[in-house]
Amino acid sequence: MVLDDSALSKFGFIPRGPKDAINIDPLQTGGILTEEARKSLVEWGDGYSVCDFCGGVLDLIKKPPIEEFIHNALPEFLNTDVVRVTHGARESKFIVMHSMAQEGDYIILDELAHYSSYVAAQRARLNVKKVPHSGAPEYKTDVEAYATAIEEVITETGKAPALAQITYPDGNYGNLADVQRISKICHDYDVPLMVNGAYSVGRMPIDAKKMGADFIVGSGHKSMASSGPIGVLGAKEDYADIVFRKSPTHKVKEVELLGCTARGATIMTMMASFPDVVRRTRNWDNEVADARWFSSKLEDMGIIQMGDKPHNHDLMFFEAPVFYEISQTAKKGRYFLYRELKAKNIHGIKSGLTKYFKLSTFQVGRENLQYVADSFEEIIAKYQKAE
Ligand SMILES: *Cc1c(COP(=O)(O)O)cnc(C)c1O
Repeated sequence: MVLDDSALSKFGFIPRGPKDAINIDPLQTGGILTEEARKSLVEWGDGYSVCDFCGGVLDLIKKPPIEEFIHNALPEFLNTDVVRVTHGARESKFIVMHSMAQEGDYIILDELAHYSSYVAAQRARLNVKKVPHSGAPEYKTDVEAYATAIEEVITETGKAPALAQITYPDGNYGNLADVQRISKICHDYDVPLMVNGAYSVGRMPIDAKKMGADFIVGSGHKSMASSGPIGVLGAKEDYADIVFRKSPTHKVKEVELLGCTARGATIMTMMASFPDVVRRTRNWDNEVADARWFSSKLEDMGIIQMGDKPHNHDLMFFEAPVFYEISQTAKKGRYFLYRELKAKNIHGIKSGLTKYFKLSTFQVGRENLQYVADSFEEIIAKYQKAE
């Protein structure tokens, strides 16, 4: 390809498209920027912008108050001992796996774990033993099976797994497992527990100590109103020296962080949204009430909510035989639902899905949720009349 003017004209500023839709995309509801973050994104958008203020260690920058944020505010927010920012939940998980386990070791994952947990384990050259769930309709993780999985690893390899993980909640059904019980089981075998809170940190109150989490992982762009990629990693003091060990050649640089992580707009947007994020976690009971209310509206239409019931999170998975049936005869088949919702200015259910889909009610609000529910009802009525 010759990079002449005509080839280059494809690039440059590209508008994103309509921004005023009601958004129920689980990936996006918790990552919408606050006004403060939007301003910070432009203000700090230049590459390496925070490095003007750095004496060699990102998390020790005093002005802007990155040190205060990483060493005081985030540990308080998560109730954990030591925190670092990373480039995302997956990077946080990889850092823990890579430092806590040796090549060939086993780690325990819940079967509902996100693909990035598996890929992180593969990159760290680890083996995975899975803890099963109950299958449809609840997909409940078999908490007691953490003991079985650990026992199996001990029998097969002669030593305990290096780490166990629970996805809290999982990214498909929004199920919140009994993490305290899991922690108790793991700790009975001296296996440290990592809690993947990609969908919880920044949405709901999270107390790592109370949960019994040795490591807590969050995603800034998923749940902390940040322009990513950015994540957080909290660790218990006991493991900080392993996970955040320093380079023998470059004394202040932490090896697993490759010396430095979020060095520009990403950390500044996370700090900009932080006051709002802390406050919104205090409103969690209302968010759960909204999710349950919306779920019951859909169930009245014959759309079945899978996972925990009553549900305890804004992320929900539905089975919709009614939409599936319509898709069998509708023009454009399975794309009808996406088109109809788009026409009603509702964004977030994946194009082409009808029988199963997930959505999030986080920060959508009752009024908009009512509109979404009414829209579902109108779409069903329209196609059923047409038959
Ligand atoms: C989205 C998601 C991730 C990935 O988060 P990143 O910050 O983009 O790495 C990991 N785990 C779960 C459960 C998720 O839902």
